[in-house]
Amino acid sequence: MRKKIIAGNWKMNMTPSQAVALCAELKDLVKNDDVDVVYCVPAIDIVPVVNALKGTNVKVGAENMYFEEKGAFTGEISAAMLKDAGVEYVIIGHSERRDYFKEDDALLNKKVKKAIEAGLTPILCCGETLEQREMGITMDWIRMQIKSDLAGVAAADVAKLVIAYEPIWAIGTGKTATTAQAEEVCGGIRACIEEIYDKATAEAVRIQYGGSVNAANAAELFAEKDIDGGLVGGASLKADFGKIVCYNK
Ligand code: PEP
Repeated sequence: MRKKIIAGNWKMNMTPSQAVALCAELKDLVKNDDVDVVYCVPAIDIVPVVNALKGTNVKVGAENMYFEEKGAFTGEISAAMLKDAGVEYVIIGHSERRDYFKEDDALLNKKVKKAIEAGLTPILCCGETLEQREMGITMDWIRMQIKSDLAGVAAADVAKLVIAYEPIWAIGTGKTATTAQAEEVCGGIRACIEEIYDKATAEAVRIQYGGSVNAANAAELFAEKDIDGGLVGGASLKADFGKIVCYNK
């Protein structure tokens, strides 16, 4: 039985003091022992958020990292730095990074491997554009992303990671994939993992849906057999996130 995981992606929002205030505002609203709760926060918020969340059920994630160990990579943050600061999860391959920062699958594969080596859990994002969906190549595209991003990653590590299916046309647009569309692709990702690895790995890996998840649609989406929670952008910055986390109450 996979435990649901509901993660907020704060993106480039919240100054350090606003971040601490948001942690305090959400503290009592996001208590749900049935799910793992994660806030993925901007790099500068990590240390204050780790401190603000001490003694709570909420874990901290980063929104990005670099794959090199250390050295002359001005502006980048390593997996070891994140780990040492108290981070447990890291988003890798969000569509905004793939699009605006031209991160490709070869780079993301290096990031996934480095995150795992450092003891972080990657939240690996994948998803199609509207054009790809309309062309009928959604699953081909996502299978290509998954296979490339996980190349050379051992089954035991894949079993522990989180994959987020995020149709690009549903991110920040208010357009949610229908529950059937979301379940179809999440199921397809699980089948792809079984094909590359084995049934046990496919049954263990947690697959989130992301794309305009809100308090009104979370329960229906998370009730699907292959949807193990959500990656939540806009709605993670407000009290509504508590309702999403407590979708089963
Ligand atoms: C995201 O950024 O990962 C996301 C799903 O955003 P939103 O919930 O705002 O669509």
